[in-house]
Amino acid sequence: MKCKRCAAKAEVCIRQHNSAFCRACFVFYFRRQVQRTIDKEHMFTPEEALLVAVSGGKDSLALWDVLLELGYRAVGVHLQLGIGRYSEVSADKAEAFARGRAVQLITVPLAEHEVAIPQLAAFTNRPACAACGTTKRHYFDQVAFEHGFPVLATGHNLDDEAARLMGNMLRWQVDHLAKQTPVLESTHARLVRKVKPLFRLSEYETAVYAFFRGIDYVLDECPNSTGATQLIYKDVLNRLEAAMPGTKLTFVQDFLRLGRPAFAGAVAGPPQTCERCGMPAFGTVCSFCRLVGEVEGKRANRRGSAHTSGPR
Ligand code: AMP
Ligand code: ZN
Repeated sequence: MKCKRCAAKAEVCIRQHNSAFCRACFVFYFRRQVQRTIDKEHMFTPEEALLVAVSGGKDSLALWDVLLELGYRAVGVHLQLGIGRYSEVSADKAEAFARGRAVQLITVPLAEHEVAIPQLAAFTNRPACAACGTTKRHYFDQVAFEHGFPVLATGHNLDDEAARLMGNMLRWQVDHLAKQTPVLESTHARLVRKVKPLFRLSEYETAVYAFFRGIDYVLDECPNSTGATQLIYKDVLNRLEAAMPGTKLTFVQDFLRLGRPAFAGAVAGPPQTCERCGMPAFGTVCSFCRLVGEVEGKRANRRGSAHTSGPR
């Protein structure tokens, strides 16, 4: 097969676009897709300083690489979640990338704030992924606010967005559907605008880009994600995609164009301000402070019962 752009021997075939590319033309195609998405969705301007959420995985490192190559000022933020060896390797990859490009990476060690994910999960009745999502959102907004970044970019790709859409639709979570968008505008002084510049590019395409660019990323999935429903949705969508190339892209794009407007009424009003931490909250206390409050309560109980049942 030949490259669609230069007619050299193709190395990668993109079925949903009925295209094939050589290495150099694929990298060109990938960057152009990202630039078009940024422009079409009015994500940010070249004047705005970007904060990129970097997990150490292929998507967020590929995103950081593209944004830098496209000439944007992009600083990384990495949250050290404290999930054993997985988190250690993830941090190493993010730091190595930053060193290699001489770009700034802001690292937040959650264990030092006593909110490492395994501890949060152990002291609450929530699944680890729920505690993790709440904690990540809180620190992304806080770091963006403290360092004055108006926009945060995450590495969510087409597969992530299609799987999330399927999950939200299967349970008709209308409030989540209303908020599922590649650009979530800020509605509070401490809520950063959130954008997903890779949402039209598949996981396969990001993996190929990372490989062609020689990006070293963490290969393991988060150990908490095994058996997660998100992976079941991804598997179903991959089977649909294999039978009907382009299904994922149409599903997500047509939802944004035709489906999402129908849920606009389900958007909650602007958030209030958390009375504990000053961050955005629906209610008097934000979901992160509620989580931390639960953990503090359980820790105190445990200390109390250890004290009363201990040796006399
Ligand atoms: P996930 O929720 O793990 O699918 O990750 C989705 C996106 O969130 C990634 O592409 C990153 O942009 C961001 N992200 C996930 N984990 C971290 C982390 N530990 N530190 C910084 N950003 C992260
Ligand atoms: Zn709070």
